[in-house]
Amino acid sequence: MGKPELHATRKSRHESGPAFQKCINPLCGATFDVSEVLTSCHRCGDLLDVEYDWDRVEVPAKLEEFERFWTQRHDPLRFSGVWRFQELIPFAPAEMLVTVGEGQTLCQRADSVADYVGVQPGNLYLQYEGMNPSGSFKDNGMCAAFSHARLTGAKRAACASTGNTSASLAMYSAVTRLLKAIIFIGSGKIAYGKLSQALEYGALTVQIAGDFDDAMQRVREVAKDLGIYLVNSINPFRLEGQKSVMFRVLEALRWEVPDWIVVPGGNLGNSSAFGKAFAELHHLGLIDRIPRLAVINAAGADTLYQLFQRRGVRWNGGQPDRTTIADYYQEMDQRNLRADTIASAIEINRPVNLMKCLRALEVCDGVVRKVTDQEILDAKAQVGSGGIGCEPASAASVAGARLLREEGVIDPAERVVCILTGHQLKDPTATVAYHTTDQDLFDEVLGQRGVRRASFANRAVAVPNELDAIIRAIQLYS
Ligand SMILES: *Cc1c(COP(=O)(O)O)cnc(C)c1O
Ligand SMILES: [Zn+2]
Repeated sequence: MGKPELHATRKSRHESGPAFQKCINPLCGATFDVSEVLTSCHRCGDLLDVEYDWDRVEVPAKLEEFERFWTQRHDPLRFSGVWRFQELIPFAPAEMLVTVGEGQTLCQRADSVADYVGVQPGNLYLQYEGMNPSGSFKDNGMCAAFSHARLTGAKRAACASTGNTSASLAMYSAVTRLLKAIIFIGSGKIAYGKLSQALEYGALTVQIAGDFDDAMQRVREVAKDLGIYLVNSINPFRLEGQKSVMFRVLEALRWEVPDWIVVPGGNLGNSSAFGKAFAELHHLGLIDRIPRLAVINAAGADTLYQLFQRRGVRWNGGQPDRTTIADYYQEMDQRNLRADTIASAIEINRPVNLMKCLRALEVCDGVVRKVTDQEILDAKAQVGSGGIGCEPASAASVAGARLLREEGVIDPAERVVCILTGHQLKDPTATVAYHTTDQDLFDEVLGQRGVRRASFANRAVAVPNELDAIIRAIQLYS
């Protein structure tokens, strides 16, 4: 049996194009066809990559050549901020690609934030991923996961989510009608903006009495038992779509590579995808240097920081120190340590893409930092006061850049891009509590998390319902 089957697999890979799935563990290196639905290596259990025989892909010789597709914006695939780079994400034929118009984002020069971070004016850019159709960067990956799901003929898709993955899944499901959406959420830890999306878009919503890490474990079991397509970021196809965030950053900077990419770290899908994007661009000769990567944890969910910065765990050519990792996870269990931060999108203690992120940190000569909820909210207020705004998790990038600047790791003359992962309106509770005059609200939402002050609060001015008093107040404060 073995031989003909092997032959058949190889043949079908070639028939289906240049892409295949490959185990990230170099000692294993097992490969699988793109048509297979897998969330881990069959042989060793490690994560999978989507890889390509680049010799068989027609990639533009220079990144500038992608600009010619701007004139084809009437074509939904070239309008998409993901698929207009489809030559760099070539795992499916064009007729299988799914788009709802994702990736129309902005990379904005933000001098007020540059000032706050401590770099020179013109050196701080905010990549606004909150402008995606479901309001977070997750859409970049979801369109790719849906394309793969369509390729495999899946009928139902599921995810565990701190909110934005479920909002994105529910949206793609509602718009495309390709898959029925099932979302798993933990109890009490989801921002209302995100939950309201999943409910309104009609996803089957399963609320588990547990936190995100519990929901993640359950959804993997359920997906396996029922054969449901999993769209969490253990899905390697999702990360392929998320590479496009970096393509658009380069595009916005007229193809000049910045010095730093700073990104919040939760499940570490983004950081992993960014590292892969730069490794591939470099391999293809499309960029001549790779930016440094800073991954920012919340202090209340700092597994990557603990492992990478404190315990020195490194990718190490694909042989990271697994004992140290296992010991740390055991220690978390023994202390019953639960992730806790106002930045709910990164409130994760067992990041599923840990190994890939270690690899990205090596590719990009990266660093990891953690920032407190106080620092996150102050940075968020600074971003918001410059306009557009972001949700708390996103502001971890700006708080992290400021910290790295203070430490002297980032130089004032360096060009820094902070990724704002989600829209401001995703979590209005945190914003209102920060700017409130109601001490009880402040204490309930922020005070109990160790936030002591709202350094940049813009408080409402209370006045009696009298014209004179209103006029006096306006003259006093404006
Ligand atoms: C999902 C999410 C994150 C975390 O991203 P990872 O890729 O899981 O590290 C950060 N911010 C927001 C707004 C998110 O939705
Ligand atoms: Zn393997």
